[in-house]
Amino acid sequence: MLNARLALLLAAAGAFVPGPAGAADEVVVLSGGGGHKTVVLVIDGPKGPEIALEEAAKGLDVSFSRQGRDAKVTLKSGGREVTLENGKSLFSVGGQLKAMAAPVRVVGERTYVSPPSAATVLGAALGQPAAYRAAYRALVIGAYEAPRLRITNVVNAATIESTVELSKPVPYDVRKEPNRVVVTFQADVMETDFIAEALPGRIVGSVRFERATPPRLIFDLGERFASVKTSERDSQHVGLVFDVSPTAGATPAAGGAAATPLPRPSVAPVTGFRRPIVLVIDPGHGGEDGGAQGPGGRFEKDLTLALARRLRAAAVDSLSIQAFLTRDGDTEVPLDERAAIANNFNADIFISLHANGSRFASAAGTEVFFLSYTAADDEARRVAMQEGAILEKAPTNDKDVGLILWDMAQAAQLDASSKLAGNLYGEIAQAALSRSRGVKQAPFRVLVGATMPAALVEVGFITNPEEEKLLFSEAHQVRLVNALVQGLGRFIAALRANP
Ligand SMILES: [Zn+2]
Repeated sequence: MLNARLALLLAAAGAFVPGPAGAADEVVVLSGGGGHKTVVLVIDGPKGPEIALEEAAKGLDVSFSRQGRDAKVTLKSGGREVTLENGKSLFSVGGQLKAMAAPVRVVGERTYVSPPSAATVLGAALGQPAAYRAAYRALVIGAYEAPRLRITNVVNAATIESTVELSKPVPYDVRKEPNRVVVTFQADVMETDFIAEALPGRIVGSVRFERATPPRLIFDLGERFASVKTSERDSQHVGLVFDVSPTAGATPAAGGAAATPLPRPSVAPVTGFRRPIVLVIDPGHGGEDGGAQGPGGRFEKDLTLALARRLRAAAVDSLSIQAFLTRDGDTEVPLDERAAIANNFNADIFISLHANGSRFASAAGTEVFFLSYTAADDEARRVAMQEGAILEKAPTNDKDVGLILWDMAQAAQLDASSKLAGNLYGEIAQAALSRSRGVKQAPFRVLVGATMPAALVEVGFITNPEEEKLLFSEAHQVRLVNALVQGLGRFIAALRANP
């Protein structure tokens, strides 16, 4: 239920969520129950990713026409008419006005809108339900059910029995690679709640689902692993048994050539293995947006990425959790999209990393923020402004209900977020080696859409000459990251004790 509501919120807010892996610049349009498929290129529009309606509608029963110098575009299909106008975020369907999250851009022969808006417009033109499924970058028109994947992992003393069930037949291939076993599915998209699971016993270290094209299930092998064989293989099931002892003559399931099938393992109900805690780390700024700059010429965006990568590695190692970054390169990611990525991962914790800037070179110290909806003091507002944008007053216009919902996503988490901020600050204040500035609240745009406990950490002032040097030193980065891991550890322990 929560997921469906989330998807709705995301669609309503027009948020565009990139998949965790796979092509970063394509959207698949699926219709006719998956019988029709078009791949559409995504471009960087002024307000975020956009696709051309003309391309998305290729092969569909929609005709386009243009009128006048206002660049009005009309889509017609089976007696229905949808009209869009360049620069407007309203469009008309049979004379009724509807809203989109961002204005239409008509450029030459192309009409550009965000992928969620493209779903709204094409759905209206075709008179069919249509939705943009951000999780797997698909624009789905009409009834379409993606195959669902379910996986159960049973850990025994000397084996791990993994059973993959599919809701409908999907061709797949099982391949043994160095240090891992990969099941690749020939499907455009697949639905699953499964993200990743860490397994005890060191036979298989972890199992991960990758929403790449094509989707894959990856078993990372542990040091006790000796052999793998398939216990079951049909178009809707695959059973894998990972063993600590070598199987006589076992050539593990290479290239789909399965070893001798075993009888179906007597599968005990899975208990005791909970979904691992998922942490999403957001390295502030990136790409054109360098963030604050130090007197030595170094940029905040590089510091936050270095810290985020260290934090990801340290958190996975020491806390046995899953951790992902909102960007793993020098790229620009819009503020709302950062929280949307955390929502997309069903993250339990969201941390945005930053370094502060001030026109006073002497300003120094670390501070941890969580979201405030109400007016904060001038200094807190200044920091929030510097980190991209502040939360504006909730729109009163009722056509923007979706945006209001998006803006309220973090409201239910404020109590937990204040605990997260407190735990992080408790540790980092000692590690920072300079003045500590406390836990504060400010209207940070980047935290607004997060549906989980979320905090923003200012690790120090990059504009302070001494702190700039310190912040870019390996020793200090390790110290800060260890402190954050300690703080996270305390927060997670409380979460596990009292979920
Ligand atoms: Zn920043």
